Amino acid sequence: MALLVQKFGGTSVGSVGRIKAVAQKILASKENGNDLVVVLSAMGNTTDELTKLAKELSNKPPQRELDMLLATGEQVSIALLSIALHELGIQSLSMTGTQVGIVTESSHGRARILEVRTERIKARIAEGQVVVVAGFQGTSLGTEGTAEITTLGRGGSDTSAVALATALEAEACEIYTDVPGVLTTDPRKVKDAKLMEKISCDEMLELASLGAAVLHPRAVEIARNYGIKLIVKSSWSDEPGTTLTSQGSRTLGRDGLELGKPVDGLELVEAQAVFALSHVPDQPGVAADLFETLSKGGVNVDLIIQSTHEGKSNDITFTVCEKDLTKAHRLCEKIIKKLGGQLSIQNNMTKLSIRGAGIMGRPGIAAKLFENLSRNGINLRVIATSEVKVSCIIEANYGNKALRTVSEAFELTDNQIQTNPIIEETEEPEVRGVAMDPDQAQLSVCKVPDKPGTAASLCSALADSGISIDSIVQSERLHHDGSRDISFTLKKEDRNSADKALAPLLSQWNGSQLREGAPITRISAVGAGMPTTPGTAARMFRALANANINIEMIATSEIRTSCIVSQNDGLTGLQVVHNCFKLGE
Ligand code: ASP
Ligand code: MG
Repeated sequence: MALLVQKFGGTSVGSVGRIKAVAQKILASKENGNDLVVVLSAMGNTTDELTKLAKELSNKPPQRELDMLLATGEQVSIALLSIALHELGIQSLSMTGTQVGIVTESSHGRARILEVRTERIKARIAEGQVVVVAGFQGTSLGTEGTAEITTLGRGGSDTSAVALATALEAEACEIYTDVPGVLTTDPRKVKDAKLMEKISCDEMLELASLGAAVLHPRAVEIARNYGIKLIVKSSWSDEPGTTLTSQGSRTLGRDGLELGKPVDGLELVEAQAVFALSHVPDQPGVAADLFETLSKGGVNVDLIIQSTHEGKSNDITFTVCEKDLTKAHRLCEKIIKKLGGQLSIQNNMTKLSIRGAGIMGRPGIAAKLFENLSRNGINLRVIATSEVKVSCIIEANYGNKALRTVSEAFELTDNQIQTNPIIEETEEPEVRGVAMDPDQAQLSVCKVPDKPGTAASLCSALADSGISIDSIVQSERLHHDGSRDISFTLKKEDRNSADKALAPLLSQWNGSQLREGAPITRISAVGAGMPTTPGTAARMFRALANANINIEMIATSEIRTSCIVSQNDGLTGLQVVHNCFKLGE
């Protein structure tokens, strides 16, 4: 008999009629011979409505009281479903987060799950009962053992469901929702968005952090780390939906279910060359021309960054394997003849990367990496960030030292460290989905010192204020005094706190200043096959150029290519990128 955890979202239990329909679905699963644990959200917009009531009484309601209030939403839905199940003759029992043994940290409103004490729920399952669990909530043990109700953060019942599936070693975790599964992009913005049959958890994490709101990202992190089979499907049909795959093989340990070490891999790739083209024209088609030429000439480009610019020119930096250096050099010379600009090449470089789920969502991690490198006098030549990987290019003779300090800092074991891993060919598509994130702002810190530790102090200052940044790009161009610019994007809502967080640093760096870019939108393409498919970035840049869209910033990582474009170009950009990878029906 298979044990399944099934989660139903707010819309799926939004009325008595729908609760009856869910009960019928559970009856059918039960008759198929499955053991079931059902996790529910609150009915419809209950959580919003309760929040609104609190806000009518106070601008800043105490988090503890908010948790007391919001946790009631799920208590209503679970009791009602259990009543409906009894009516169908199914033995069932509803349980709150506390009753089911979901133990969390004590931080109200965003608690992470530490463990699930499964004795009680296992006993009920063994009796053949369907256990209906309140999602989104848990219990903190408190310092003196005083238990408190906590909530996991909005959308958190997905996370409750996957955590239960992990602790109970369930066969699969099924998330029933009001969409048919995970789509190639937002169907409200692109009409021919198509359902994906499967997607890896890493790809999903990238897309989720870019605004695809189907699943709570923490649920995907848990599924990735523990190798849980996660399926997203419609509550209203029997279609198979989307399966999320992962290779994770962690076992539950002492670290806490959600708190386990966030970084679980370190990689060194040697023999890299950094190409920097500066002062190329700032107009649509330049990046497309350059990377098309390289890809047609058989050069596989790894990281690409293009930073903000002063005046009417851009700097584009990219990395290739040293074996492609001569070829790439020749092709770049050709491009420069046509477009103008200057080329500098630096060989004998090494790429160091750390991996893990939700790295950029935890702002301290990138900061810790950069700090450890700078403390050892290691300069970061290029930085590439994404939700599941942060890479930097350093000089080759620092490679071993960097490997040692980083593996110590993140407590990695030998089998988590790889040098020059062979990239395996995959059947995976170069681009699985595209996303648009309009909630980003672009900031540049101009005229920062060009020495080890600059990026690290920037990131730490922001991390200390809880601000995650994305797409950090250091400009190629040196100012006359030898200083550089560093640009990054961050969530609009963090824009003002960033000013405050960076003020002390700016006053230390003589002549430096913070500049905000024009309103932007980020368009990203994500696909596990990207590293082994030449020309992906070129195709994306060409599609944008053909729509006459100028690219302001480029940042790539292993499985993601992001372009920052002007806000007005966002929607068209998303549509043409979706189209160019033939993702539609
Ligand atoms: N009811 C909570 C919310 O609306 C949790 C959830 O639905 O996942 O955020
Ligand atoms: Mg949800």
